[in-house]
Amino acid sequence: MEIHQIGGIGYDSNMYLIIDEVIALIDAGTGQNFKIVRRNLEQLGLKPSDIKLLINTHCHFDHTGGDLDFLKAGCEIAIYESEADLLRKGDRHVTMAHLFGAHPEPLQVTQELREGSKIELGKSVLEVIHTPGHTQGSICLYEPRLGALFSGDTVFYGDVGRTDLPTGSYRDLAQSLKRLAELKPKSLYPGHGPSADDGADELILSAIELI
Ligand SMILES: [Zn+2]
Repeated sequence: MEIHQIGGIGYDSNMYLIIDEVIALIDAGTGQNFKIVRRNLEQLGLKPSDIKLLINTHCHFDHTGGDLDFLKAGCEIAIYESEADLLRKGDRHVTMAHLFGAHPEPLQVTQELREGSKIELGKSVLEVIHTPGHTQGSICLYEPRLGALFSGDTVFYGDVGRTDLPTGSYRDLAQSLKRLAELKPKSLYPGHGPSADDGADELILSAIELI
């Protein structure tokens, strides 16, 4: 399995391309920089239609605004079950799209993820961990063989996700961080900012102390 960061420009979330037998993408940015994202894909010899599955870590527009471009390319869209209808309805408020002046088009969500769902990509598998706190339906994705944790906006390098937005909960975030600490992950791939190849377990323990 190869991991490439192909986004994260401007207000976009980070976008992690996972290359295995199946090619998957974790988060899609706002969509405002899609041309640059497509160029980054081209540099890897790929195009949007090569991506089979787009997994959103949560509903926020800076992670899901780009979904439509990938949907049009034939990609399937996955998100935690409790946030699927927000994308299907083109919600502006819980997704924070209104902050970007955006009116999201209703999206066809084909996979509703649950706690413990396993996304098989070939040799690698992404395990879905429900980590409410930043939003009620936030998830992290864990690849156990590599010890790689894709943490969305739950935990960053040296910080944690905010809990003051719709459906956010400080108490839930604290619980979620404890769960992540039990995994003792090696590497951390957060939704914004830098990633860490090593010491992800220590970063999560520091995050718990921080809050
Ligand atoms: Zn967010």
